[in-house]
Amino acid sequence: MRVRFAPSPTGLLHVGNARTALINFLAARKLQGSFVLRIDDTDRERSKLEYEEAILEDLEWLGIGHHLMVRQTERVDRHRAAAELLKGKGLLYPAYETTEELERRRKRALALKQPPVYDRAALRLSSEERTALEAQGRRPHWRFRLSQTKVRWHDLVRGEVEIDTAHLSDPVLIRADGSFLYTLPSVVDDIELAVTHIIRGEDHVTNTAVQIEIFAALAEQLPMFAHFPLLVGVGGEALSKRLGSLSLRQMREEGVEAQALFAYLARIGTSEPVALAGAEELAAGFDFAKIGRAPAHFDPAELAGLSARLLHGLDYEMVRARLAALGVGGGRAFWQAVQPNLTRMSDVVDLWRLVEGPIVPCIEDGELAQMAAALLPAEPFDDDTWSQWTGALAARSGRKGRELFRPLRLALTGLEHGPELKKLLPLIGRDKVLARLEGKSV
Ligand code: GLU
Repeated sequence: MRVRFAPSPTGLLHVGNARTALINFLAARKLQGSFVLRIDDTDRERSKLEYEEAILEDLEWLGIGHHLMVRQTERVDRHRAAAELLKGKGLLYPAYETTEELERRRKRALALKQPPVYDRAALRLSSEERTALEAQGRRPHWRFRLSQTKVRWHDLVRGEVEIDTAHLSDPVLIRADGSFLYTLPSVVDDIELAVTHIIRGEDHVTNTAVQIEIFAALAEQLPMFAHFPLLVGVGGEALSKRLGSLSLRQMREEGVEAQALFAYLARIGTSEPVALAGAEELAAGFDFAKIGRAPAHFDPAELAGLSARLLHGLDYEMVRARLAALGVGGGRAFWQAVQPNLTRMSDVVDLWRLVEGPIVPCIEDGELAQMAAALLPAEPFDDDTWSQWTGALAARSGRKGRELFRPLRLALTGLEHGPELKKLLPLIGRDKVLARLEGKSV
């Protein structure tokens, strides 16, 4: 089994592409297949190396590795050879219409309430007419001659699919400048790289009918196809590729955890509930039959919640290096103190400030602060220090509950809410606690 993920390096990966990559990845894992990363860079004007690099980086971040990577531009000779073969079979024919001519015909067809399907006028040109057109300097583009029959396949998600290619225009495979459009190179590469499963969004269903006809002309065997419904927004709106906020890049900057995104994209739109499962478990449970026929709803808030929950469950060892990279100390004790308060990893930076200082204490109740300073136990502090201290303070001051804890929190952290003080206290340490109780910014 072999799958491929075939992004065009014309922009950043967005959640939609990432989901395609992920479904391919899970299918390959489940069925012990290999994963090919194919860079669809035939559009030379729009393809950029920086996007290719970003795609590689983003996939790695998401935890999607590949066994093989190919660039379509490096395989143009193969695409040309296939085109010659199709010409030899009479399946690829030159057409000379300009864009304007085609547009005029399309409008005419629409006005006559006819389907705007290419009329194959080019097929009827005599060789003299062709020579005459070429003598005028017209360069042909090349169209694939569809069978105009019903193409059928068993789709692993959609079940039996039937598309009548009589309703489609013969697709242009080669532009007048000799460059290839996506359709043919994709088939050639899928054949030559021995891709067994083409797994992609349902926006490619019609392409598949065309591509199956090209496969039939070039190969012995057809791959399997799976077309899953696309991602839509919470309200059912289309997720546009251009929405930067849905790029992996942006989500990463906003603090979404890769593992959470992985788990989220693995399950939305399936019959299984979204859960914080690991890659192995998600792959083991993967099944095309679990992918629903309705669009999958992408909800950034649900993802953010999942990402926070993931952080709440991470062991210190798993985040040690990331904490160090963020300049945060305090070891395991600090991590455990602040972990439940995180919505994203970078929150640790501000929380570390509460320990390290300086913070601006807020002394709401001077009398209580003085009493608290007098009753503060000697070091070493441990997990019980807080309850001993506040127990004594409650007895002495006669205050309890919010009246007692709010002024203490404000004095020690300058904030109304935050991590458990019981855990922060030993980290802040006696000297700083005393200074803060005096209102000093330390
Ligand atoms: N480059 C194509 C795309 O991004 C690949 C489609 C396919 O999977 O064949 O839409």
